[in-house]
Amino acid sequence: MTASIKGISVSSGKIKGPVLTLPGQDLRLDFTPAKAGQHHSEWHRFEEALALAETQLEKLHQQAQEKLGDDIAALFVGLHLLVTDPELIDEVKTQIFKKRARAEAAVYHVLNEQARTLVNIGDDYLAERAADLRELAGRLVHLLQGRVPPDHILLEHPVILLADELYPAQLTLLDNDKLLGIVTRKGGRHAHAAILARAYGIPALAGCNVLDKVSDGDWVAIDGDQGLLYLDDPLPDFPTAHVESQDGCAEVIPTASPIRLAANISTLVEARQVSRCGAREVGLCRTELLFPSRQQAPSLERQIQIYSHIARECAPAPVTFRLLDAGGDKPLPWLNKGSEPNPALGWHGIRVLLDQPELLDTQLKALLEVSRQYCIRIMVPMVTELEEVLAVKARLHALAAELEVAAPELGTMVETPSAAMLADVLAEELDFFSIGSNDLAQYTLAVDRDNPRVADRLNAVSPALVRLMALVVDAARPKGLAVTLCGELAANPDYLPLWLSLGIDGLSMQAGALAHIRQRLMDPLLVPERQALLAARSVSELSTLLQKA
Ligand code: PEP
Ligand code: MG
Repeated sequence: MTASIKGISVSSGKIKGPVLTLPGQDLRLDFTPAKAGQHHSEWHRFEEALALAETQLEKLHQQAQEKLGDDIAALFVGLHLLVTDPELIDEVKTQIFKKRARAEAAVYHVLNEQARTLVNIGDDYLAERAADLRELAGRLVHLLQGRVPPDHILLEHPVILLADELYPAQLTLLDNDKLLGIVTRKGGRHAHAAILARAYGIPALAGCNVLDKVSDGDWVAIDGDQGLLYLDDPLPDFPTAHVESQDGCAEVIPTASPIRLAANISTLVEARQVSRCGAREVGLCRTELLFPSRQQAPSLERQIQIYSHIARECAPAPVTFRLLDAGGDKPLPWLNKGSEPNPALGWHGIRVLLDQPELLDTQLKALLEVSRQYCIRIMVPMVTELEEVLAVKARLHALAAELEVAAPELGTMVETPSAAMLADVLAEELDFFSIGSNDLAQYTLAVDRDNPRVADRLNAVSPALVRLMALVVDAARPKGLAVTLCGELAANPDYLPLWLSLGIDGLSMQAGALAHIRQRLMDPLLVPERQALLAARSVSELSTLLQKA
C-alpha cells in the first residue's frame, strides 16, 4: 500500500495528475524608515493603491457573479469591506505618519497584525478570514510596487495545484476545466478557496506541507473523501481527469442493487450536476453553505429564491433540504455565536434553531413555499433528544396550516450516538433517517473530524459505528422509514458490502463520486453475513470480514 500524507479534506472526490506548484507571495518589503518629510507621498501612494484594489475587487466580484452566481461571488464582498474598513485605513495612516513606515511596510504590518489577532482568537471561521487579510496585504503591496497581483494563474494543461495558500481571486479567474485538484498548506473547510473548490466540484485538501517534496510535473493523487495525499508510486487507481468522470456521469448505468444513489450538494453549481450524474434524488442539501458570506441571516425572500432555484435545477429528483446546521465545524458569519471552548460540543445545529425561533420559522416557511411547486423533504441536523424533533415537527405543522400547504416529509440526521440509540423512539415521529457518518464517527469515536492527525481513525469503520448503524436500520424497518447514509463513508467503494449487509437503503454522496460507486454496484459484490458483521470485535476483524467478502 502506498504511503499517504494526512490532510484536511475540504472538498471531496478522488483524482490524480501532474502538479503545478505556486510559490508563496514574493513581497520584497523594505522595512527601513521612510525619509523625513516623505510621509505625504507615502500616504498618497497608499491611497492610489487602495483605489486600484477597490476597482480590481469590484471587477472580480462581477466576474465571479457571471461564472459562479451571486452567493459564491459574495465572497468578494467581504474583501471589499476590508478595503474600505476605516479602522484599518486609520492604522495604516498611523504607521505612515507616526512611525515613518513606507506604504508597503505599513500595509503589511497592519494587515498581518490583524490577521494574527484573528488566528489567535481560536475560532476556525475567524482564523480563515485571516486569509482575506493576507490576500489584501499581498494585493496592496503588489500594487504599491507597480506589479500585477498574482490573480491570473495560467493553466496550460490539466494540473493539481499545490500552494501554500490560494486566494479566491486566483481560483475565480483560472480555467477550471484544467484544474484537477488543489492541495494547500494553509486553510481549512471554511477558507474561501475551499468554498470555491466545492463549487467547482474538484477534490481539495488543506493542511499538507509538501511544497518542498514535489516539483512541477510530478504526479500525485488526492483522496478528498478520506483527506489523504499520495506522492509516491504506485499511486492509487484514481481517475486522471474530470472529463472521464463526467463521461461516466452522463451515462446512467442501471444498477442491479436495490440501494438508491443520491447526491449531496451545497452550492448551485453542484445542483446543476445532479441530473447529469443520474442521481435519483438529493439526499443532503447543506443549506448552511448556501449563503457563505452574507453579513446577516438570509431573508425569507432570498431563501425561497435559492431553494426554488436548487429544486428547479434538480427536478425531477426530490431534494432533501437540511435545516441550517450552524456551529461546530460550520460557523456562520452572521450568527453571533461568540467563541466557544469546544464548538463541536456547543451551540450547534438544531440547538441554534430552537434557541432562535425566528430563524427556524423563516427557514421552514421558505421550504414550505418551495414545496408548493417542488418535491422536497426536510431534515433536522444534530439531533440528540426526542424533544428537539417534536419541537421542529410542531412548528412545521403549525406553519403548514397557516400557509395552507401540506407539510413535506420530515426526517432527521442520525449523527450523534444519542440519536442512534433513540432511533426507535424517533422513528415514531419521523418519515426518514439519514446517517451522517462524519459526525457519528466524530462523536462515537471521540475523533475531531478536522484534525488530520486522527483522520485515519475517522475513515476506518469501527465495530461501534457498525452496531449503531444497525440499531438505526432495525428501528427504521418496522415503521417503514428509509435509511440513507450521507457522510463521506458513503463514497468509499470498499465499504459497499457493509452497507448492503446492514440494509442501508440509500447512499448520498458528492455527485462526482456517483458514477464510480454505481459501477462498483454493477460488479458482483460478496456481502458479509449481517450477524458476522455485528459480532466483529475490532477494526481489524471488520476489515478482514470485508476483505473476505
Ligand atoms: C455528517 O455529519 O456525516 C454529514 C453528512 O453532515 P456534515 O458533514 O455536513 O456535518
Ligand atoms: Mg454532520
